[in-house]
Amino acid sequence: MSTTIKKIGVMTSGGDSPGMNPAIRSVVRTCAYHNIECVGIYRGYQGLIEGDFKYLDARSVNNIINKGGTILKSARSQEFRTKEGRQKAYDNAVKEGIDALVVIGGDGSFTGAMIFSDEFGVSVMGIPGTIDNDIHGTDSTLGYDTALNTVVEAIDKIRDTASSHNRLFFVEVMGRDVGHIALNAGVGAGAEEILIPEENLGKDRLIESLRRSRQSGKSSSIVVVAEGDKTGSNVFDLKNYVEENLPEYEVRVSVLGHMQRGGSPSCWDRVLASRMGVKAVESLMEGKTNYMVGIKENKMSLCPIDKAVKGKTEIDMELLRVSDIMTT
Ligand code: ATP
Repeated sequence: MSTTIKKIGVMTSGGDSPGMNPAIRSVVRTCAYHNIECVGIYRGYQGLIEGDFKYLDARSVNNIINKGGTILKSARSQEFRTKEGRQKAYDNAVKEGIDALVVIGGDGSFTGAMIFSDEFGVSVMGIPGTIDNDIHGTDSTLGYDTALNTVVEAIDKIRDTASSHNRLFFVEVMGRDVGHIALNAGVGAGAEEILIPEENLGKDRLIESLRRSRQSGKSSSIVVVAEGDKTGSNVFDLKNYVEENLPEYEVRVSVLGHMQRGGSPSCWDRVLASRMGVKAVESLMEGKTNYMVGIKENKMSLCPIDKAVKGKTEIDMELLRVSDIMTT
């Protein structure tokens, strides 16, 4: 494979996710394989602005495939949102001889990459790293599968205590705009109800459903609520509403929070990260720029980065139906 690219910078940006480390490892090793220098950029765009770089060779990424978080650290950089900040970042990239960037992050990070590329002509390639799976152009983002496993494991534990005390638990999971985590983990953990931003169940239907559930002989219940669900103003509001309307229920709330972003990446995320890193570097070598690497029907694919940023992800309607049937 012939290429004019001699040096690639890799960074992680925005919220961290399990799978970022295996992706860094893959980018670094693919560069080493093709005799391209690889520069690790610390703390996302802020590190690019400050010149916080470290050269990475194949051995620098030993023993990170199983680690959550990101060895390069992540950050949200306000300065990069300004033209002056991006100019500093570009000057540093030129000084360092960086020909192209691999940005591992979410849609905000890709927006930054797109603007940077438009302004200065730097080649950029995105790798979707976010637990929410809310990026268009890929069936799965890095960290999503690990987060699902984390949530299912947590709900399994909550179910033990729920059934011992005949309680109803509202479990809030991440997902401000999309309900992928809630829907999939909810089905996987056998939740009685799943509340997602895409569908407003309505408080009355929730009460009706819980009443039916109790009448059918269930003594404990789990309701999975995505952060962005609109049924109540928040999960505590739902708890109060249910307690007022169904006094027979003893209700508890568990907000899983940031633990969903941590942990050792699942095998799926490790393999996906390895494949995405290879695809990102080799696509840059082929002269491609302004794309995001994705997986579609188990094949690596490229999605124009502007489409990845602007496009929506859709909830699997069939899974919603499965969920309804399973709660019979
Ligand atoms: P997550 O999905 O976890 O929120 P993200 O990549 O969407 O990840 P953001 O905080 O939205 O996270 O973006 C990360 C960084 O990308 C920002 O801190 C900023 O430096 C850069 N960025 C985002 N939007 C822009 C923009 N419009 N112009 C320039 N830079 C941007």
